[in-house]
Amino acid sequence: MRKLALWLMLLPLIVSAQSADDELVKVKAFIPDIVLDLKYNTSDNFAEQKLYSTDECFLALNVVKQLKLVQDSLRMFRQHNGTSYPQGLGLKIWDGYRPRAVQYLMWEILPDPTFVADPATGSSHNRGAAVDVTLVDRATGEELEMPTCFDDFSERASHSYSNLPANILANRELLESIMVDVGGFVIYSAEWWHYSLPAAAAFPLLDFQPK
Ligand SMILES: [Zn+2]
Repeated sequence: MRKLALWLMLLPLIVSAQSADDELVKVKAFIPDIVLDLKYNTSDNFAEQKLYSTDECFLALNVVKQLKLVQDSLRMFRQHNGTSYPQGLGLKIWDGYRPRAVQYLMWEILPDPTFVADPATGSSHNRGAAVDVTLVDRATGEELEMPTCFDDFSERASHSYSNLPANILANRELLESIMVDVGGFVIYSAEWWHYSLPAAAAFPLLDFQPK
């Protein structure tokens, strides 16, 4: 009986330890040199309005751990596609965790399930399980050339679009290979910038509003 009582006392600790992976954390606290450019905290986005109230990017802890592996690898890239990068490459985040209330607003503006997830079922962004990223030169912070800018809702944003200069294809492929092979993320075929972590697909839909 005493063993059972002890086990019952420990149970909440075990449960909370298991749920820590879905806890939202500040990305910068774990990856200080990652570049943040949260487009929904500006009016420079498809909604043409500021939808966030913070410049902090949050993601589920599990997702941040995987992104850190990606950033650690990118920092080592001193040469890519004929260009030298003395401080290596890095990630820039355009969007991470997104409150579900914002998802409803986006759906009102653009109810197109190819580019905006239906808020009824939720987006992996609402779980802190998806991230929108591009590559930057760590020395200058300049973005590497990619097929489109963020939230370009055209066929040019698709992973299967190949009518592009070789250097742009190489940049898109580098981002894909490192996010998938090192980070364990999966692509979204319609958007070259969107990556999600399958292990986080069951994390809860959240409406926490970071300040
Ligand atoms: Zn996304």
